[in-house]
Amino acid sequence: MAIPASQRPKPFLEPEYCKGCLRCIDACPKECITEGDAINAATGLVPVNLNLDNCNGCQLCVQACPEPYGLRPQAGPVATDAHGDFDLEDPKNLFGAKETGAPVAKAQPSEEIPLPLGQPMVLKGTYASALGALLAGCRHVFGYPITPSTEGAELMAKVLPKLDGAFVQAVSEVAAINMMYGCSGAGLPCMTFTSSPGFSLMLEGISYMIGAELPGVIVNVMRGGPGLGNIAPEQADLKLMTRGLGHGNTHAIVLAPATPQEMLDLSRKAFELSFKYRNPVIIAADGYLGQMTGVVKLPATMTKPGLPEWAVWGDREHRGNLICSIFLSEPDLEAHNVKLLAKYDAMKAEAMFDTYRTGDADVLLVACNTPARMAKGAVEDLRAQGIKAGLFRPITIWPFPIEGLKPLLPQVKRLVMVEASPGQLEDELRLALSHAGLACPPITPVQRYGGILPQQTEIVAAVLKGGAR
Ligand code: SF4
Ligand code: SF4
Repeated sequence: MAIPASQRPKPFLEPEYCKGCLRCIDACPKECITEGDAINAATGLVPVNLNLDNCNGCQLCVQACPEPYGLRPQAGPVATDAHGDFDLEDPKNLFGAKETGAPVAKAQPSEEIPLPLGQPMVLKGTYASALGALLAGCRHVFGYPITPSTEGAELMAKVLPKLDGAFVQAVSEVAAINMMYGCSGAGLPCMTFTSSPGFSLMLEGISYMIGAELPGVIVNVMRGGPGLGNIAPEQADLKLMTRGLGHGNTHAIVLAPATPQEMLDLSRKAFELSFKYRNPVIIAADGYLGQMTGVVKLPATMTKPGLPEWAVWGDREHRGNLICSIFLSEPDLEAHNVKLLAKYDAMKAEAMFDTYRTGDADVLLVACNTPARMAKGAVEDLRAQGIKAGLFRPITIWPFPIEGLKPLLPQVKRLVMVEASPGQLEDELRLALSHAGLACPPITPVQRYGGILPQQTEIVAAVLKGGAR
């Protein structure tokens, strides 16, 4: 037998538990509930108002309310305790006993999937980098367009929806890097493409990612500066990437490709390193390399990423995880810095370099990115003129591969620093020599700026002319 309306309990609202979602207003057929107009001091939210004159106790509003202590059927007077607070029902009666001792998440390992043998492709650097990221399992890219990096993001925007991934064009570089923070916090490989002014805007977010120990790959296709500068190639951000990654005690591995093939290979490698160390990794490309096309071969495998145990994934196993870079207690923050310093120290094992004709070289050219290609040509020209020249090419700018340079130093009479910046690479080399306790040979700088790269002929001329500092 149906209960008469007069005997059905009418709803009761505890304002502290109303979040003002207004679902109950839509649910009520008698228009008993209206939008509130006063902020509740305890919650900062605006609870709804009830006028139950026409209420028939149908309970539709109670069912619509998502808050367990929001709208409740309440027969008779409301029970309160000695302090006048509402006598709430024990949550155990509503939800059962609280689960304790949630299982600790285990890492789900990544898998290497064999790729069929394909023909080499001719790709521009930004495309090759995007392809390397896709092969590393990256399916989430966040970015803001900026020349000369845009094509990488543009390719991802076309491809990712077909691969069950997502590309989000953010409102700014600041938003893009913070979207990476969120995506990476869920344990997913993610990246961005940017160029010098955009990279500057990302620095605060990079510092947060380092502090929260989050992986992520940032491809910086460097252009001329300062300020907006121009869109031609420069190695303008080497110092920023090696010594200035936002506030605090920050470092990230910086990889410097010199060919489209390395744009692919090092972009892929960057994801591996990024997850290995739980730290962002930066690809330092230059505008020329981003636009330059070259033959690119695919690797033998691609990666299906796993899920790290630290991910904030949203299931029961990962419930205890927290991603955060804030440590309010000084000893805690100092301990966190000590941990980061130890991690930076471990990253030194990843130092990479390449050499060309250095066996008997007493004039050693040092260059990275596109200038290394001009320097390589200069080595050939100088050898043809009887000068024992060689090339040392750092592939990691940070950590600087000092252990690779060290065995060459006893035979070297002069270093020739070839770079598209006013000595940013030279500064990094001098620091590395100093920290290693090694004497610095005389240095001949060959520098161009503003979007002009050092040319092969001027490198040769500088070596022939001599002079060093
Ligand atoms: S019980 Fe029914 S009539 Fe009463 S306020 Fe809720 S929805 Fe409206
Ligand atoms: S449905 Fe519940 S939480 Fe939402 S406004 Fe109504 S009483 Fe408040």
